[in-house]
Amino acid sequence: RVPQVVIVGRPNVGKSSLLNWLAGKRISIVDDTAGVTRDRITYLMEEEGRFFELVDTGGIGIVDCDNLTKQVEQQIEIAIESADLVLFVVDTRSGILPLDEEVAKRLRYIDKPIVCVANKADHDAIDCQADEFYKLGRGKLVRVSTLQNRNKDELLHMILERL
Ligand code: GDP
Ligand code: MG
Repeated sequence: RVPQVVIVGRPNVGKSSLLNWLAGKRISIVDDTAGVTRDRITYLMEEEGRFFELVDTGGIGIVDCDNLTKQVEQQIEIAIESADLVLFVVDTRSGILPLDEEVAKRLRYIDKPIVCVANKADHDAIDCQADEFYKLGRGKLVRVSTLQNRNKDELLHMILERL
């Protein structure tokens, strides 16, 4: 069985961008207007001769836009069911929003390794803003920018170290 690295986080933090960035290509996003609520986008990665599957849970419940808590719950369910490692993505520019706290609260009860990925750390000057994410609880923190291509190797290293 290939280890599963499950990406969770509220909408708009950059979960899909993270998957595409790590994959090194645009993975087609299923436009799910029909209302399938448990869609997940996966990509098989090979790093340093090791394999793992990246799972973007962000498409889940997208039809149900006003019920974000439900959406988060479904992401967490998938993480509980199948994750070997959880990537908890947050947005360095916006800082902590209530829904991030909601995700963090639910992750607290999951007995799996977690890496907190502070995305949108586009340059050195805002790196320090990511410090507040330590408040969200356990897990290592890594500052990245999918847009500016920052700290990809650091994140990949953290993933491999924990699988
Ligand atoms: P998702 O809803 O969590 O899957 O988020 P998306 O991947 O769709 O990204 C949401 C928005 O954040 C998009 O407009 C992205 O272009 C933007 N975004 C993603 N990564 C970065 C980043 O590193 N820096 C900045 N400034 N914007 C980003
Ligand atoms: Mg997405």
